Amino acid sequence: MTTPTSAVPGSRGPAATAGLTAAIDIGGTKVAGALVHPDGTMTATTRRPTPRDADADGVFAAVADVVAELARSPLWPSVVRCGVGSAGPVDTSRGTVSPVNIGAWRDFPVQERIAAELARHGAAVPTVLAGDGVAMTAAEHWLGAARGHANALCMVVSTGVGGGLILNNQLHPGPTGNAGHIGHISVAFDGERCVCGGIGCVESLASGTAIARWALAQGWTPAGDPTAAGVAAAAAAGDPAALAAFDRAGRALAAAIAATATLVETDIAVIGGGVAASGDTLFGPIRAHLASYATLSFVRDVQVVPALLGTHAGLIGAAAAALSLLPG
Ligand SMILES: [Zn+2]
Repeated sequence: MTTPTSAVPGSRGPAATAGLTAAIDIGGTKVAGALVHPDGTMTATTRRPTPRDADADGVFAAVADVVAELARSPLWPSVVRCGVGSAGPVDTSRGTVSPVNIGAWRDFPVQERIAAELARHGAAVPTVLAGDGVAMTAAEHWLGAARGHANALCMVVSTGVGGGLILNNQLHPGPTGNAGHIGHISVAFDGERCVCGGIGCVESLASGTAIARWALAQGWTPAGDPTAAGVAAAAAAGDPAALAAFDRAGRALAAAIAATATLVETDIAVIGGGVAASGDTLFGPIRAHLASYATLSFVRDVQVVPALLGTHAGLIGAAAAALSLLPG
């Protein structure tokens, strides 16, 4: 399952340095790997399904397979660093992950295990771990929609809501890799209880899961697809409950974007993920509500734009995180 070099749109990495970066992206459905060149192009792209019903070592076997596949590339000796992006929660201070959708991994020491695997294949290189929201942020700042912005909020709106921050032109992961976790700031102080234990979190209002659940409760009848994509299709066709569900999600996101911009002067919010793929169905309400929340002179012009990197974001993000966080 190796594909030849694939170009990424707009490749030209200001942060790039010499040598190749081994990038590994771990999610609930797949483990992907690639060798990433200093300009962001990728070689030796490979992927394995994330094992289901396997124990912790069984899941890691898929990661080890991906590393072994990368090590077969003739370019492997040029690898000088490794970036690992993973579904969260992550604790980068300890190099561990406990992905919600990989039940066998709880406080799993993925960074140490991958470093050992790299060394076994002759590449004892520095390795960085990043959560998927932070990795996506690094990717969008390097080669995507946040490029050239010194202060940016990047968000992933899909089944959950994640994110990350660029501050003063630097990726800002925070001590445990969770800074910018916009999904779990409260935008409704007397709102619903969130899965995290908090109240009125952005995720409980704006995730794909929340959009679909709320639309159904308001009387939306799915024509087939009962997920947020189905709600988006219904909204595009003018269904009032579906439109209201996206308006509510957009309002929650607008409040969070305005709060972030007010707190740290981000001038752009980049939004990716499955729900963002509904385009103006989501971006329309966000922009409309932003006028109510982003009122001070220094936040009034905050832009809200779609992410650019799409399917490449995970691997590019893993590489970008390594380039950003490891010493040059
Ligand atoms: Zn929460």
